[in-house]
Amino acid sequence: MTDASDIPVRVRPEVAALPPYKQGRQAGSDAFKLSSNENPFDPLPGVLDQVREIGGFNRYPDASAARLRARLAERFGVSDDAVHIGAGSVSILAQLVQATAGPGDEVIYAWRSFEAYPWLAIVAGATAVPVPLGLGARHDLDAMATAITERTRAIIVCSPNNPTGPVVTQAEFDAFVEKVPADVLVILDEAYAEFVTAPDAVDGLRAPGGHPRANVVVLRTFSKAFGLAGLRVGYAVGHPRVLDAARSTAIPLSVTAHAEVAALASLDAESELLERVSVIAARRDALVAALRETGWDVPDAQGNFVWLPAGDETIDIAERFVEAGLIVRPFAGDGIRISVGEHESVEKVLGIAGSVVGTLPEGHRGRAASVEK
Ligand SMILES: *Cc1c(COP(=O)(O)O)cnc(C)c1O
Repeated sequence: MTDASDIPVRVRPEVAALPPYKQGRQAGSDAFKLSSNENPFDPLPGVLDQVREIGGFNRYPDASAARLRARLAERFGVSDDAVHIGAGSVSILAQLVQATAGPGDEVIYAWRSFEAYPWLAIVAGATAVPVPLGLGARHDLDAMATAITERTRAIIVCSPNNPTGPVVTQAEFDAFVEKVPADVLVILDEAYAEFVTAPDAVDGLRAPGGHPRANVVVLRTFSKAFGLAGLRVGYAVGHPRVLDAARSTAIPLSVTAHAEVAALASLDAESELLERVSVIAARRDALVAALRETGWDVPDAQGNFVWLPAGDETIDIAERFVEAGLIVRPFAGDGIRISVGEHESVEKVLGIAGSVVGTLPEGHRGRAASVEK
């Protein structure tokens, strides 16, 4: 937390009170970086080649990334203006929150979820309304519906939930949307959609033509499954007029030509990329099963990461991973998120996880009730 009195100019008090953004630790050359849910595979050669061919650093990019929009529009059976490209889907989240919520307005999201959510609400001047996760570290959509007031302007649903892992089911999401007033924006953040293997999971873009509700915007990204985190490109599919509002708050020309070309090339190479995604998903399932075997109570994992509910022991246990060359993401007092990374990292993760689970106090929520060690 910053002390506002240290700042030489007048800053909005809610902004002065925010901790400056802190990135997951960067890994040394011999450590595995399992802290940012990145794709451990290098980009496909064809993707790199196409990006290299662009050149032209002296020219601005095409402002709307029209080629990528058209490509995604065709894929999802919507008009081009029902697609919006951003410099990462986080920037689209920020645009949507800014477009809908200001001082006195409320933004509802599950907690714990993606760290950006409270921050985006606060920066917009709105009130953040976190709703605790329910059983199994899953969204409690009934409680989220109950939290809606006449001040609610946006609701964010994250599936699979970062950092805990479970999805919202299609049936749960459909029932939830029924309860949301038609003029309140619902943002369905599907940053990890490609990793999902649960057949009952929500898929905001399941039917051609986009989501049938005009107040639902679906967010996807090229950062995770497509391995382009460093280039910053994500997209939204939704009602054109809702997306126009996002476009109005966007910083123009943020999406570079390189990001657009890399995204297009990745879509060309999609089947190859999705093979890698299924390797990660299988590695994830094996990791979850093995972690449960060691005695950890790991929630269902549908992204490219797993969650250890380490509670008060989080910081100490995260340190044990780091000492072993595994950079993980601790959330103090709550738990540790570990990305599913290189094949060689898995045994190491299991070794440390297995050695620390026995140090958890009796009755600790990180310990599976059924497994007596
Ligand atoms: C990673 C992530 C995003 C998107 O990140 P970008 O790199 O900005 O596209 C969005 N939502 C969640 C929950 C994420 O974990």
